[in-house]
Amino acid sequence: MKDRVALVTGGSRGIGRAIAIELGKAGAKVAICYKQNDELGAKVAGEINENGGNAKAFKADVNNSTEITSLFKSVKESFGPVEILVSNAGIIRQCPIALLSEQEWDEVVDTNLKGTFTCTRLAVRDMMRAKWGRIIIISSDAGRLGEAMGSHYAASKAGAIGFAKSAARELAPYNITVNAVTPGYIETDMTAGTEAAVRAKQIESVPARKMGSPQDVAWLVAFLASEKGQYITGQTISVDGGLFM
Ligand code: NDP
Repeated sequence: MKDRVALVTGGSRGIGRAIAIELGKAGAKVAICYKQNDELGAKVAGEINENGGNAKAFKADVNNSTEITSLFKSVKESFGPVEILVSNAGIIRQCPIALLSEQEWDEVVDTNLKGTFTCTRLAVRDMMRAKWGRIIIISSDAGRLGEAMGSHYAASKAGAIGFAKSAARELAPYNITVNAVTPGYIETDMTAGTEAAVRAKQIESVPARKMGSPQDVAWLVAFLASEKGQYITGQTISVDGGLFM
C-alpha cells in the first residue's frame, strides 16, 4: 500500500479513525474527511504523522455534493488522485416507522447512501484511468438483518450493499474492487448511548458474547485495500462475532 492515496470519510472518530490509522501504518497517504469536529480530524492526522505516516484532515459533509467535489480536488492537490476510498461516514437515528418524518428519512439515507454514491462517482473517474482502485463501503449487519426502529438506517445500509455489488460488477474490468463491510455491534460513540439493558440483550445475541472494537473492522479494511485483496470483489463481509451468519 506504500504511497497509495486513501480517503476515509468519517475518519475523525470510531471505526473510520481506526481505519485511517491502520492505512497510515501500512504506508498509505491518508486523507481524513469529517463533518464538524476540526480538532478530532486534526488529532487523527497528527497521530499518523507522528508515527512516520503522511495524513491530512479535510472538513466536508458527504451529504453536500459541492463540498465533496471540493474535497476530492483538495485531496488530489495534496496527495494525488484517490486510489483507495473507504466510504465510512454514517449516522444512525431511531424512530418507529409510523412516526418517521420524511426529513429524518432523507437525512439518514442521504448521508449513508447518497454520500457513498457521490464519493464513489468522483473516485472512480481517476481509478478507471489508472486501472487500479479499491473501494470499501462500510455498511452494517442492520442492512442484512433489518432493524426495528431503524428502518431508514437499515434501508440505507442495505442500499449500500446493492450499490457495492453493482459497482463491483461494473468496475471489475478496470481492476477496481468494491466490497461492503458489515460491522455488528462495535464500541464507538454511535453505540455508547445504548441503554444498559438493551446493550446486554445485544451482546447476548452475538455468538462471541462481546462487542467488537473499531480495530477489528480496520484490520479487514486494510487487507481489502492491499494488493492481497486483488481478487476479492462484490463481497459483503461481516465483522460481528458471528451475529450474522
Ligand atoms: P461515529 O459516530 O463514532 O463516527 C462517525 C464519523 O462520521 C465521524 O468522524 C463523523 O464526523 C463522520 N460523519 C458523520 N456524518 C458525516 C457527514 N455527513 N459527512 C462527513 N462525515 C460525517 O460512527 P462509527 O464509527 O460507529 O460508525 C462508522 C460507520 O460504521 C458508519 O457508517 C456506521 O453506520 C457503521 N457501523 C457502525 C456500527 C457500530 O456498532 N458502531 C455497526 C455497523 C455499522 P464528525 O464527528 O465531524 O461529525
